[in-house]
Amino acid sequence: MANDNRSLAELANHDDFLTRHNGPDADDVQHMLATLDLPDTESLMAKTLPSDIRLERNLSLEEPRGEAEALTYLKQLARQNKTFKNYIGQGYYPTHLPAVIQRNVLENPGWYTAYTPYQPEIAQGRLEGLLNFQQVVMDLTGMPIANASLLDEATAAAEAMALCRRANKKAKTERFFVADDVLPQTLDVLRTRAAYFGFELIVAPSETLADHDVFGALLQYPGATGEVRDLTQQLEAARERHIMTCVAADLMSLVLLKEPGALGADIVVGNSQRFGVPMGYGGPHAAFFAASDALKRSLPGRIIGVSRDSRGQRALRMAMQTREQHIRREKATSNICTAQALLANIAGFYAVYHGAEGLRTIATRIHRLTTILAEGLKRHGVTLAHDSWFDTLTLVGLDHGPVHGRSLAHEINLRYDTNGHIGISLDETTTAADVVTLFDVLLGDEHGLSVRELDRHVHTQGMTGIPDACARESDFLTHPTFQRYRSETEMLRYLKRLENKDLSLTHAMIPLGSCTMKLNATSEMIPISWPEFANIHPFAPQDQVAGYKQMIDELSAFLVEITGYDTISMQPNSGAQGEYAGLVAIRRYQKSQGQGHRDICLIPSSAHGTNPASAAMAQMKVVVVECDNDGNIDIDDLRSKADKHREALSAIMLTYPSTHGVFEESVSEACRIVHDNGGQVYIDGANMNAQVGLCRPGDFGGDVSHLNLHKTFCIPHGGGGPGMGPIGVKAHLAAFVPNHVITPLPGVEADASAVSAAAYGSASILPISWAYIKMMGGRGMKLATELAILNANYIAKRLEAHYPVLYKGRNGTVAHECILDVRSLKTASGISEEDIAKRLMDYGFHAPTMSFPVAGTLMVEPTESESRYEIDRFCDAMIAIRDEIRRVETGEWPADNNPLSMAPHTQADLMADDWERPYSRELGAFPTEATKAAKYWPAVNRVDNVHGDRNLICSCPPIEAYRDAT
Ligand SMILES: *Cc1c(COP(=O)(O)O)cnc(C)c1O
Repeated sequence: MANDNRSLAELANHDDFLTRHNGPDADDVQHMLATLDLPDTESLMAKTLPSDIRLERNLSLEEPRGEAEALTYLKQLARQNKTFKNYIGQGYYPTHLPAVIQRNVLENPGWYTAYTPYQPEIAQGRLEGLLNFQQVVMDLTGMPIANASLLDEATAAAEAMALCRRANKKAKTERFFVADDVLPQTLDVLRTRAAYFGFELIVAPSETLADHDVFGALLQYPGATGEVRDLTQQLEAARERHIMTCVAADLMSLVLLKEPGALGADIVVGNSQRFGVPMGYGGPHAAFFAASDALKRSLPGRIIGVSRDSRGQRALRMAMQTREQHIRREKATSNICTAQALLANIAGFYAVYHGAEGLRTIATRIHRLTTILAEGLKRHGVTLAHDSWFDTLTLVGLDHGPVHGRSLAHEINLRYDTNGHIGISLDETTTAADVVTLFDVLLGDEHGLSVRELDRHVHTQGMTGIPDACARESDFLTHPTFQRYRSETEMLRYLKRLENKDLSLTHAMIPLGSCTMKLNATSEMIPISWPEFANIHPFAPQDQVAGYKQMIDELSAFLVEITGYDTISMQPNSGAQGEYAGLVAIRRYQKSQGQGHRDICLIPSSAHGTNPASAAMAQMKVVVVECDNDGNIDIDDLRSKADKHREALSAIMLTYPSTHGVFEESVSEACRIVHDNGGQVYIDGANMNAQVGLCRPGDFGGDVSHLNLHKTFCIPHGGGGPGMGPIGVKAHLAAFVPNHVITPLPGVEADASAVSAAAYGSASILPISWAYIKMMGGRGMKLATELAILNANYIAKRLEAHYPVLYKGRNGTVAHECILDVRSLKTASGISEEDIAKRLMDYGFHAPTMSFPVAGTLMVEPTESESRYEIDRFCDAMIAIRDEIRRVETGEWPADNNPLSMAPHTQADLMADDWERPYSRELGAFPTEATKAAKYWPAVNRVDNVHGDRNLICSCPPIEAYRDAT
């Protein structure tokens, strides 16, 4: 072999990760450029981006770091976090994530890279997991319907408040009652929402509920200080006075406590975190939302329902989507889009694995240890604030100083309340030895208590902290799913069986426009499992979270440089939450300037549904700005509307590049028009993947943007969440971003209430984005953006002869995505965008985004992570499908019996004795050589949407269903 004359530095090749993250290699790039008839990528950029917004320098970020080097550095940061044992409680508890679930779900790209299950035929696995979650929530809360997760308990409570107002037609007041023992972070988020809904909050002891004239009420069960109260009478009195009630409940305690549904609640919310999901310094975990039957059609969030497929088989799907923001826009029940699907699946599987028996054992053990702790403390004369408890005790009159000193020596965190009380919450991980340590800490080590003796005493005396009236009497989780998978072997196979039903990035590209389904690199994912990130309580003392702080500061600095804003707020835990936080910041700022009356929000007709829904939640009036024939914002219409509303103009919400996949030339002008009329500019950053390194929203006119870290910055979609939607803001807005009651943030107004339960949202997934940026560097990210744009233009070029590309820029190029117009095909053949989407499944692909932003179209976004091989495979499939459509057009195949209208094809189709179709089974299921080599099978035939919504069932099949079947 010839002598290798590269230097040692060159051999250290830190660009390794770039070639892993980016799909196309140098040959692919040359080929694609040649197809586009362009000499280099820069000429494509010059044709595509307006010159007046180009960033004329390189991002000032470090050089790319190798995967090993980045992880070594991050591990050093992580080690600066102190993983003390936590008894802080307040909605967050240590838990044991069963290893079989950790490895096969949380750490498994088959689960975490999947998309939201809008295409149910290729999502039956995660739909079943989410149905399990709903069943767990319904059974434990005692409510007839539950959704498939919300972002956190605090926002779930805020959604409940909004639902009470919407549903309570009798109450004539705008006042909402909040019990004074509701979790402090929940109250904080309620304050924000109430302010912009125009509600007044009445915070008072729950006993006084019926004394107030309010439209709804929120009670906590058990209360934040651990008290377990029978709420029956309060709830009944409220009902008599036409007050709607919401109970915020703890799922683990409900295993032993009477379910809030039986107490008479209209709505029950809470967090499923302690069902196996690590605390992660605040998230992500799945909140739940359950309600009475009367409210089922106005629930916020996604709901999984049972329907049937075209063969009449049971099939799952997302039910009642017509309530959601993507259809209802500013009239939607909520702005929620991304939720916490992956974490809801994990919590559901935790319940499947343990079953009712296992959960009873876990909850009973937690309660027994708490009772032992209570009894021991009482023997030493310690006063307890309450004579009831499930897992939380509040101690009165103990001297903080010595207790605090001893707790730190034992590496233990307790809760120190501002009124001098000390709180302790036990959990699944607490052992008898831990209780001895707690005695040592609380009483000094001369206490002479024995847990064994106390246990015997508690047991023989039948002592409990649960009042008789609050003891659970009903069964739960009686469905076969919760009984069958108790051995690890059975569980493993169940998880694998479900995973195999779903199409994820492990199978093929997922070309979803606006959703940026790029690589979620394994190296980026590894840190989320590290205990130094996973096992940190969000309210841990600041000196225990130095690693988190530095990681967040570094990530913020990266994002500041990437966006051109001045500061970043990490609190919003989804894009929609970011929109809300950003609009609230604008309103707070304008109020501080004496401009609080400004409430008009201009939104282009092409905007994502979350935009108008968020504006409505921030009490803004939406004024729609039209688009011209090229899909661009109609600048004349914008000018006239901005002028017309100049006295009341608050903001515009723009998406850039536009949702039409075009870098609009006039974006700077649009921003100027709004500024000139006294408004602020909100730039929806969901399309940031087309901008990083090329232009910055903060430079061309934005005052605030959210970034979907689960799109551009590599947090996986998780089948519908988690996500993170931090906002970048210009300096004048910095003081008005959300603050936090327990973790006050520097530089933010003290009374700027929160939008999320935790100060940094879903902090534990931030290392994913940190690692991405660290390993790509400024150079790598710019290259990624260029490749994303090149890939999209290559697709547009290859497909335009077969499907018209709806919108293009001034020089005939697209941005990072393109819209394929199939409306004329439908007119000619009857074949719809939906038929094409379903047919793509037979070819082994996930459909592009359907009917957004233009009805009857498909929007394709390849991202930089897809190689030319994969992109060609996709284009070949699309072209083959076009030929199939032609055979329908020409009448060779009838409009209602062809491979498109019958798609997707399942194994059941092939097995059927009858095959009365004018095409072969082989063409149906194996349309390409690639599918013959490796076939992905949709689990069900086309799912019947109408049937599912008419016959709404959102629960697991009961045992009788299995009996009927046999
Ligand atoms: C995805 C998206 C959003 C919403 O983000 P979520 O994280 O799902 O709430 C908003 N705007 C656009 C353009 C999007 O693509």
